[in-house]
Amino acid sequence: MPHSGPSDAVEVKKRVLLLKPRGFCAGVVRAIDIVKIALDTFGAPIYVRREIVHNRFVVNELAEKGAIFVHEIEEVPEGQRVIYSAHGVSPAVREASRTRRLKVIDATCPLVTKVHVEAVKFAKQGYSLILIGHRDHDEIEGTLGEAPEATQVVSSAEEVESLVVPDPNRVAYLTQTTLSLDEARDIIHALKVKFPNIAGPHTQDICYATENRQVAVRNVADGADLVLVVGSTNSSNSNRLVEVSNNLGTQAYLIDNSAAIDPKWLEGADTVAVTAGASAPEVLVEDVINYLQRNGYSSVEEVEVMPENVRFGLPPEIVQAIGGAGGGQSVPVRQ
Ligand code: SF4
Repeated sequence: MPHSGPSDAVEVKKRVLLLKPRGFCAGVVRAIDIVKIALDTFGAPIYVRREIVHNRFVVNELAEKGAIFVHEIEEVPEGQRVIYSAHGVSPAVREASRTRRLKVIDATCPLVTKVHVEAVKFAKQGYSLILIGHRDHDEIEGTLGEAPEATQVVSSAEEVESLVVPDPNRVAYLTQTTLSLDEARDIIHALKVKFPNIAGPHTQDICYATENRQVAVRNVADGADLVLVVGSTNSSNSNRLVEVSNNLGTQAYLIDNSAAIDPKWLEGADTVAVTAGASAPEVLVEDVINYLQRNGYSSVEEVEVMPENVRFGLPPEIVQAIGGAGGGQSVPVRQ
């Protein structure tokens, strides 16, 4: 019988799979740029309604540079300058800004604006609107505000059953941009069963960044023992990445940074996949990778699942302020 001593043991190489695309999307880059440019151009104080993007690190960094974050427009002193977050606002917020004579800079992601435009269009055409999303999310609050009397929010396929509308043949659905593709598909299926003539958006509302990051996790989850998602707890798209992996049977955790890693998670985890939500900066990913390297993960392999090269132009308020450069049109460029 062969003897198997310590010298014969095969050393398992612990490795990290670093997913790409990960982290900042075009809407987040644009929103952060808008706050930085506004601070540089106009100087403090610059007020920002709600978290500009859902990441504590980013918000703290901008607050240190002089941005003042408020929850509601009423907290902004009359006549001051305010920036709307990437998640968008309802018409009621725009009206409140006008009443307070605020100088508004709109950092709403163009892909969120697309959903607002669809909501207005369907409501004008007399449709009952079903908005698929999470009721407590800033984006849903804004989109719902476009046609509150005509809109109902659903968050699960089970909720579809109890929907009541005036005319089942005049119903349309829209979705939050940062949903799980699988969950949205199930809810849309339930809606189509209940309302066979339901109308939908021209192209899906779930944005390219949300989709790409989920596809990347799906591609590697099977080959990993653990998935770490860098992102804040209130980031919808980051939470969805954790769900995608857990649904595939690979344990995943959402972490703000390396300090949130429980060493127990790494026990027996030879391959750790790392990704980041659309609002998580790369510096936090680097912090997590450094931690893993210090803990024996000597190999870091970047796994690019698909290329991503999307840019959005700056809003006219900023373009005018900086003298015309930067592109006034917010046009998504997909590659
Ligand atoms: S996650 Fe999507 S919708 Fe949200 S800011 Fe980024 S690109 Fe826009």
